Amino acid sequence: MISVFGSANMDLVAYVAQAPKPGETVTGREFRTIPGGKGANQAIAAARAGADVAFFGAVGDDAFGPGLRAALAEAGVDTTGLRVVPGPSGVAHIVVQDGGDNSIIVVPGANGAVTGPDGRDVEVIARSDALLLQLELPMDAVVAAAHVPGAEVILTPAPAVPLPAELLEAVDLIVPNEHEAAALTGRDDPGDALEALLGLVPEAVVTLGARGALYGSREGVRLHEPAVPVRAVDTTAAGDTFAAALAVARTEGADPARALRFASAAAALSVQREGASTSMPHRHEIDHLMEEGL
Ligand code: AMP
Repeated sequence: MISVFGSANMDLVAYVAQAPKPGETVTGREFRTIPGGKGANQAIAAARAGADVAFFGAVGDDAFGPGLRAALAEAGVDTTGLRVVPGPSGVAHIVVQDGGDNSIIVVPGANGAVTGPDGRDVEVIARSDALLLQLELPMDAVVAAAHVPGAEVILTPAPAVPLPAELLEAVDLIVPNEHEAAALTGRDDPGDALEALLGLVPEAVVTLGARGALYGSREGVRLHEPAVPVRAVDTTAAGDTFAAALAVARTEGADPARALRFASAAAALSVQREGASTSMPHRHEIDHLMEEGL
């Protein structure tokens, strides 16, 4: 079983020819509300990839809360640990310009009210095989969750912020993209960044977009998994899909090479479709792509 302790946001997406300048009003072409947030994205991706998943976090008592819960539940995620707190849910206000450039304002809302896991949360996390963490919740809450004994702790360090030692000491595997890896280590070369990350945690994966992913462990293993050659239409949540699928494979006992291949296959399927949760593949699709030999 996999636990995810993280954020849930409603993405409010406006599609427009040109984003407005200060003081300007423009008419958009289309508007969508799409459940998102890195925590919820990883939970949905892990459930679709075949795991039993429990989600821990918070939504507000506004109109978005029930929609966020429903999106998780529809994917089969256990939302018993999703609290409702007074005030607004987390929202990401996204303006997508023609040509694909976007600007995003994230207002954490209920995510900002999450404190460390307690009671039942601790029990469920402790008997999970893996705990997936990201950094869209208050750092104190993330640190507390990481210290629940039992589950393997897999951290996606996004958004990139300095990581306190109390967090790093509890992390088993860190999965940054190359930009986050550079920000965390001060090394622009992903291979160098990987080595620096292994000074902080026992295992690391640096994802490289269309160039695939690097894996390293303190035991001396180094791997490069190329990306599956596909035509990408939307890479939103590719990293979240990758991290979740990696966790699913590891909890099923896959060795690092096989886990990387499984994660690459899942992420390659996701980049061929638009959106976040809407793009995440189901297990049979990942298995099918793996059988084709990638
Ligand atoms: P990123 O977060 O951009 O580093 O991407 C995470 C993972 O998604 C990569 O390690 C790849 O496995 C996969 N991926 C991202 N972009 C592409 C692409 N254009 N084609 C195939 N796979 C991709």
